[in-house]
Amino acid sequence: MNLVRLLLILILGLILWSFFKRWLHSHADEEESESSVSQEKPQPTLKEGGKMLRCEHCEVHFPAGDAVHFQGKVFCSEAHRRLNQSD
Ligand SMILES: [Zn+2]
Repeated sequence: MNLVRLLLILILGLILWSFFKRWLHSHADEEESESSVSQEKPQPTLKEGGKMLRCEHCEVHFPAGDAVHFQGKVFCSEAHRRLNQSD
């Protein structure tokens, strides 16, 4: 019987603890929303170090995220990849 009672107390304690934590969290959120006025700064347009690649066709530099890769070459767009291929 002792073990069952201990378990019940443990479970009750856990439930109370989770309620307490939730209450603490909501309380902290309230305080945070009051104090955090403008912590988020606007992101610069060039992210991740702003890695630039050069188009094989028009030699324009563009963000690596927009690159079109083909046969080891890099192009700024699908259109330029096709144009370069037809040369
Ligand atoms: Zn191009």
